[in-house]
Amino acid sequence: MDDRLTSVIIMGARGRMGQTLMSQVLESDHLTLAGAVDRPGAPGQREDVGPLVGRRAVGIKMADELIPGRNDVVIDFSLPEATEGVLRACVEHRAPLVLGTTGLSEDAQGQLIEASRQIPIVAAANYSVGVTLMIHLAGATAKALGTDWEAEMFEIHHRHKRDAPSGTALRVAQAVADATGRDFEAVRKTNRDETGPRSREEIGVMALRGGDVVGEHTLMFIGESERIELTHRAMDRAIFSRGALRAARWVAGKEPGLYDMFDVLDLHGV
Ligand code: NAD
Repeated sequence: MDDRLTSVIIMGARGRMGQTLMSQVLESDHLTLAGAVDRPGAPGQREDVGPLVGRRAVGIKMADELIPGRNDVVIDFSLPEATEGVLRACVEHRAPLVLGTTGLSEDAQGQLIEASRQIPIVAAANYSVGVTLMIHLAGATAKALGTDWEAEMFEIHHRHKRDAPSGTALRVAQAVADATGRDFEAVRKTNRDETGPRSREEIGVMALRGGDVVGEHTLMFIGESERIELTHRAMDRAIFSRGALRAARWVAGKEPGLYDMFDVLDLHGV
């Protein structure tokens, strides 16, 4: 990556991810904070965002409207309700977008594809560089091993997590299915409250919950008398913001299109 300075606007700036992103941008030699936006009425509107992230004033006030300037990249980690407006503003101002918000409606996903015909957009459900690499390794390993080795995975997250298994666990297991020509929906096994032997084809995905675990995923390939295990452990949500900022630097100046973290890390075809 080159030494250009990338100017970014953070959407959802008051949220957990927004604050982590702003802290990292303010510490970066390669990025500059051009704006911070959160919903109308959010605490801290019109105030300097420096104190929000434990700093002195930085000269950027929280705004309630997204108006990207020339050369700004928008990074959105807010809520799905905001997505339509974010896409509209980015298209109108020709601003590249890094979209981190998850849980988009089908409508919003359609708008995302439509917008990506006019501006470059990176969209990923998990911006961690490590998890992206794990998905890649899962596919590459499964391809080499075939279906003789049984694939099983488990994940553990904090007690507050709402969905199980995690979207990331399903994405990793999907990579195993894709690499071995299996239809993931037909072979996924997310519940073993039953009797009977395991079928060769199935891919087990089990979820554990408790405490304050940020997130751990382990994929096992279990063969005769040997086992390969791939594990990723997330210790801090800063891993997502670091990946998103890497994506922001990457997407500046790209052609219109819909990209993911595999593009950012240049993993397609590796
Ligand atoms: P959060 O609830 O802490 O923050 C969301 C922020 O968005 C809040 O400050 C809220 O006021 C703001 N907001 C809500 N509606 C808005 C609107 N219309 N306009 C502007 N701002 C608005 O949530 P969080 O934990 O920071 O997560 C934010 C999003 O990022 C979620 O969708 C989450 O699932 C997603 N996320 C994605 C990744 C990834 O790697 N892709 C990682 C972590 C979180």
